[in-house]
Amino acid sequence: MTCQTSDELQSIINEVHSLAEEGKVADYIPALAKANKQDLAVTIYKSNNECLYAGSYTKKFTLQSISKVLVLALALQDRGIDYVFKRVGMEPTGDPFNSISKLETSIPSKPLNPMINAGALAVTNMIKGESLHEKWARILNFVQCLSKKNLTYDIEVANSELETAWLNRSLCYFMKQHQVITGDVEELMMLYTKQCAIEMDCFDLARIGAVFALNGMDPETGERLLPIQIARICKTFMVTCGMYNASGEFAIKVGIPAKSGVSGGILAVVPDQYGIGVFGPSLDEKGNSIAGIKLLEELAKRFDFSIF
Ligand code: GLU
Repeated sequence: MTCQTSDELQSIINEVHSLAEEGKVADYIPALAKANKQDLAVTIYKSNNECLYAGSYTKKFTLQSISKVLVLALALQDRGIDYVFKRVGMEPTGDPFNSISKLETSIPSKPLNPMINAGALAVTNMIKGESLHEKWARILNFVQCLSKKNLTYDIEVANSELETAWLNRSLCYFMKQHQVITGDVEELMMLYTKQCAIEMDCFDLARIGAVFALNGMDPETGERLLPIQIARICKTFMVTCGMYNASGEFAIKVGIPAKSGVSGGILAVVPDQYGIGVFGPSLDEKGNSIAGIKLLEELAKRFDFSIF
């Protein structure tokens, strides 16, 4: 693995960086409000194990919603495709990520997809394990396996979310009433807030992207880390629902599978070629990294990324 800074990537960062001023860092999870709005970083992990980076690429951030796609991959392995999609749908939604309204009106009463909070909470509820501790160890171990890195989680961010996540609790109680989830809601919230608080840098994210780009194969060893079908399902959700209710616009302007999180991270995948990790905590009104999206747009134009 050879990694080097890239002048070309740095020049794109310089071009789009000022956009960060126009966005806002997430503050509904109080600990996220401490992020530096000016940070912007990108790493591209190529399938031949070369890697390029630019910007504040050593900065660590929490996965937040990016964890949804990874935990979905684990749940699909744990339970199988039929089990998972009996409880969570496959359709995109134009509603915000934390919306509760469709839960009441959908028939049957199940979350529309695994990338919105309701669906992600239901998916986390499917992870196998005898105890909270075991389930958490399995999630962390799985993410470590994809990133080939010893990872931890940011306890302050996890606790900050746990103390304030009343809407996510409401989604859980609604779903418990309708038998979409089972078990103890507080325990599920602890597991979910920890998965969201897993911490990494752009390089780790790009490496995970490379695993998806290669349909589940480890880019360094060629070992199969995910079944092809599961890698494909995850990438498809990234295209249809990965960028919140801006997924359609992103598909037109960038045209690749991607998943963002409110910490400002974006995991992006150019099939067969690259995994990309982006970090820029200043967000637009939909909750996506404002400069990060522009950076991906510029990259897509220059390197003709679109899969369409
Ligand atoms: N932990 C966050 C929540 O559930 C994740 C949201 C996100 O990144 O979209 O609110």
